[in-house]
Amino acid sequence: MRILPSATKNGFRDTVFGYANLPAYASVYYDRAVLLARSENVEFELPIILGFAMAHELGHLLLGSNSHSDTGIMRAQWDRKAVQSALMGRQLFTLEQAGAMRENLRARRAATAIGGVASYR
Ligand SMILES: [Zn+2]
Repeated sequence: MRILPSATKNGFRDTVFGYANLPAYASVYYDRAVLLARSENVEFELPIILGFAMAHELGHLLLGSNSHSDTGIMRAQWDRKAVQSALMGRQLFTLEQAGAMRENLRARRAATAIGGVASYR
């Protein structure tokens, strides 16, 4: 996980908050998290907003690039209502997403244990 100071033109854009390069690493943009916190007048919540951006991109590493959902951490669009909900701890991974991430981690661990290369989505 990388925290970049600002967005770069990289061709891997996901949301305005960052992107994931499957299967290895993800990046979030610090300045975008700051702008969102300021626009919502919750600058003191910047660590939480940055944490949600990081969780979203880590979700992509474990769920794949086409893993957006209508609700929760993997939503594609973060509007004001979603941010407020996130700050109240109500933006989570769905049960299906959580199960898929656990399965992905199990597959990676198994591939590493036998010295092979894991196949990722
Ligand atoms: Zn995304």
